Amino acid sequence: MLKISSPEKLRELSLEAKEEGLTVGLVPTMGYLHEGHLSLVRRARERNDFVIVSIFVNPTQFGPGEDLDKYPRDLARDEALLDAAGVDLLFIPTPEDVYPEGFQSVVHLEHITKPLCGAHRPGHFDGVCTVVLKLFNMSAADDAYFGMKDYQQLKVIERMVKDLNVGVRIEGMPIIREPDGLAMSSRNKYLSDPERQRALALSKSLDKAEELVGGGLIEPAELISEVRSVLEAANLEIDYVELLGAENLDRIESLKGNLLLAIAAYVGTTRLIDNRVLVAR
Ligand code: AMP
Repeated sequence: MLKISSPEKLRELSLEAKEEGLTVGLVPTMGYLHEGHLSLVRRARERNDFVIVSIFVNPTQFGPGEDLDKYPRDLARDEALLDAAGVDLLFIPTPEDVYPEGFQSVVHLEHITKPLCGAHRPGHFDGVCTVVLKLFNMSAADDAYFGMKDYQQLKVIERMVKDLNVGVRIEGMPIIREPDGLAMSSRNKYLSDPERQRALALSKSLDKAEELVGGGLIEPAELISEVRSVLEAANLEIDYVELLGAENLDRIESLKGNLLLAIAAYVGTTRLIDNRVLVAR
């Protein structure tokens, strides 16, 4: 596995691969890898001839007071995992490589960034969209892989690609969970043992919601209130519990069609997110 930090070199190597007739797959990450990331890498390895993984803790998508400075890192372990997964190229730039002096462009999407994390993390999606579009341009990727763990991010990127005629095919992959249901996340490392137990309330509340909808519950407000009570019983501080249309994240009037139930909650000082797409008839 080749390891580089220069955006120009990344583009050069990728274009070279494409000239040889290879397809290029990109998996953007912030590192501290787990099975969720590796599921994306394996999919890229299956679908593409030349697989690029980026590790970049992007400062512009973190707000003041968020965990940019303490975001977990273990580059040696990440490298070993990616090498073993058959990755061709690891791109690991510094903030200066990505944002050279004088940088002043921002990619901003309107409606789809308004609810959920967009409402609770101002500027977050501007940071995400700008860096992801830059990674697409630097890597000249044919395909890029994103997890449904960050469901809104996936939808925002799909929208950006459509709106701006970006020639990258986006593929969303299912949420990978620990055996007990906790969605895998680099931030799970922050949890103490008792917090790790309490964090299970996120996936449990989604299980309950799915059961209730399957059992014929038809009232959105009631469903949200049931979810909230599971989270509150575990003493989690709720950031949001929202139910939106799964395709465009638009407001819904009733429990009908494909719905996104999305949660963000603090377990102690750690903010975790989880979601489920519910199919309501
Ligand atoms: P991150 O390193 O947290 O920025 O995540 C990089 C990519 O991995 C994003 O597309 C995430 O949605 C995806 N990802 C993170 N956790 C999971 C998970 N538990 N299951 C599937 N994909 C994930």
